[in-house]
Amino acid sequence: MVVIEQPALALPRKRIRWGEQLVRLILFLAAAISVLTTVAIVLSLLMPAIDFFREIGPWQFLTGTTWAPLFEPGSFGVLPLAVGNVRQRPLTEIYRESPLFVAFRDPDQLKGRCGACEFRFVCGGSRSRAFGATGDPLEEESWCTYQPGSFGRRERIEELIGAGV
Ligand code: SF4
Repeated sequence: MVVIEQPALALPRKRIRWGEQLVRLILFLAAAISVLTTVAIVLSLLMPAIDFFREIGPWQFLTGTTWAPLFEPGSFGVLPLAVGNVRQRPLTEIYRESPLFVAFRDPDQLKGRCGACEFRFVCGGSRSRAFGATGDPLEEESWCTYQPGSFGRRERIEELIGAGV
């Protein structure tokens, strides 16, 4: 019997590729920074939310109908405004077609000073504050002190808005 000796199959020693290691380290650091940033954001939102609900209570928040956070004692009720039922219509359809959402996207439907304001296309005021103050979300922003037209360049502003600038 003849035995043929096989040469040892030795793989060449793996070379350390420093460039590749550096790229991996940079990617790891970027991923770690992004994860830590996300955690920090979640914590920074969660902590005040926990403090808030300790003070107000979820039941009071969900069932209250008065919004007056700056008064003492403050009221933080959610103002109910039904625009559709997601069990009957898709959310996207409600968002696109609900008369209230359509009105929100059309500054010309705003009322009071906001409706007459040359800045209604870029500002529009707070619809939630209008609703809280008057019961009508399209009413004028109650906290705004601006008198429409007093800026003095109304025509120029409307011209710029009309041109899509
Ligand atoms: S009246 Fe005030 S809140 Fe309303 S659109 Fe003009 S600047 Fe904005």
